[in-house]
Amino acid sequence: MRITIPHLGNVYLAVKILFDSLGIDYIIPPLNSKEALRLGSKYSPEEICLPFKLMVGNYIASVESGADTVLLVGSCGPCRFGEYSELQMRILKQLGHNIEFIIMDPVSSIGLNELFKRVRKVGSTSKKSALSKMGSIFLAFTAMKLIDEIEAAAHTIAGYETNPGEAKGLLSSCKKEVFKCSDPIKAVNILKQYSNRLKAITVDYTKKPLKIAVIGEIYTVIEPFSNLYIEDILMDMKVSTTRKLTPTWWVKDMLLKTIKLNSRELLNASNEFLPLYIGGHARECIGEAVLAAKEQMDGAIQIFPMGCMPEIVSKSILPSVTQKKKLPILSLVVDEMTGEAGYRTRIEAFLDLLERRREHVRIRC
Ligand code: SF4
Repeated sequence: MRITIPHLGNVYLAVKILFDSLGIDYIIPPLNSKEALRLGSKYSPEEICLPFKLMVGNYIASVESGADTVLLVGSCGPCRFGEYSELQMRILKQLGHNIEFIIMDPVSSIGLNELFKRVRKVGSTSKKSALSKMGSIFLAFTAMKLIDEIEAAAHTIAGYETNPGEAKGLLSSCKKEVFKCSDPIKAVNILKQYSNRLKAITVDYTKKPLKIAVIGEIYTVIEPFSNLYIEDILMDMKVSTTRKLTPTWWVKDMLLKTIKLNSRELLNASNEFLPLYIGGHARECIGEAVLAAKEQMDGAIQIFPMGCMPEIVSKSILPSVTQKKKLPILSLVVDEMTGEAGYRTRIEAFLDLLERRREHVRIRC
């Protein structure tokens, strides 16, 4: 068995650490690119959302390198994600690839026994003891948490650093170094070293950078290629950004969902505008916007793929959040036709607006 995964932000680093630690054969597909999108778009239904197409592009690249099993998380929620695996399996079959899918569906849908059965299947080729396998899972989760923390710190620091670009440079070399390392313990140590190096960056907290919350559909906010590297663009513009949806957040959310204790802060914050679950992470998106206003962010940028049903609903609710909570929000829709220049211009215009709004408030005070 040679396992592969679709890309989702930095998840591939934690998964690599997990598979290296378990001693499992795996293929990490090349990072998302125009080629992955071209391949995925070619074989996917035209109207399906962007994450689906990129994932198909990832599978095809991995299968061509010898992968025979796809590991994917699942959902039975009322949006297309619940259908992803079935449809993707058929597409690969039609292309002549008889690939096995191991779907990590939520415990609430398949029960604990079935979930453990699927987890055991993933680790079936590992020669490690059950206890060591648990250790590997713990190590991978530690790595995922560290990467998320490093990324979050770099995005915040970008607005305050005295040497512009330092945080971005560290983040980029951290990912490269961890990916190159095939010793899982050493990889986690590299992450710890980078975490300390980021803390040592010289910052000037008298600076008043724009502070922006990045909100929206989970795949497009986490996967940098799909959002045209918006967090990098904002770092270059010396903007300080935050994002609450991360892979670590997702894991905790999935686990706590079984006892209905997931994301209480975000869901409570969304209650005033969207108290019902409508699929995807629409409620979380609204909750993030409300919290961004509470945390006195200058604005929020919502990103979602063209045709994303839950986020279209959030988009129609966000103007009420803007009005009631006095938070400017820019919505950006992405698909394979999104042009970089127009996308960047909209971001720059939004930042200009936020700067002027700030100036206006200062003069009025
Ligand atoms: S949340 Fe939106 S983008 Fe994601 S699978 Fe559902 S419809 Fe597609």
